[in-house]
Amino acid sequence: MQALTNRSKVVSDKKMTFLEWIYIPAILKGMSITLRHFFKKKATISYPEQKREFSKVYRGQHVLKRDDEGRERCTACGLCAVACPAEAITMVAAERKPGEEHLYREEKYASIYEINMLRCIFCGDCEEACPKEAIFLTDRIVASEYKRAPFVYGKDILVEPLDLNLRIDVSARQTESLLKFKQNKRFAHNK
Ligand code: SF4
Ligand code: SF4
Repeated sequence: MQALTNRSKVVSDKKMTFLEWIYIPAILKGMSITLRHFFKKKATISYPEQKREFSKVYRGQHVLKRDDEGRERCTACGLCAVACPAEAITMVAAERKPGEEHLYREEKYASIYEINMLRCIFCGDCEEACPKEAIFLTDRIVASEYKRAPFVYGKDILVEPLDLNLRIDVSARQTESLLKFKQNKRFAHNK
């Protein structure tokens, strides 16, 4: 039968030589490989004490943005959920009541907005689909957990804080080509 790869090795049952029998050359060979790697640059880092520098457009934990006046930008249109290939986003839409204009920018808002981080593949399609610039991925890493339930992130985690000093800066994600695309009314996304 033809082998699937050329990595298979024929096992030999020939008698060991004296040098093979005493194992010392094999041990020395193994130690020399270990020593060689000992002085090489480490491929790993001591996270979380050390952190790698991420790309400006790294796709990590999402944020639901507020506008300059602190109002939630999301209008619960559902486009992000439709675009999500992992079906990770769910939401419940609600009507804004009189007196809530300072909380929600549009007449409709998401009373519940959840992302299942165990489903999410961080593709960024939700960010691209959003016509309100409400959802962005960020350079934050989703924290590890021991149970599944805490991975369903609600608005308490996703919506950025009201405090201007604690807002999540996503300006680096607005690349020149993206800004150009967003200005073009020819695309349904920008109407
Ligand atoms: S990043 Fe991709 S997989 Fe994750 S919620 Fe957004 S669209 Fe879904
Ligand atoms: S995040 Fe954007 S696309 Fe998703 S429901 Fe809100 S406004 Fe619509």
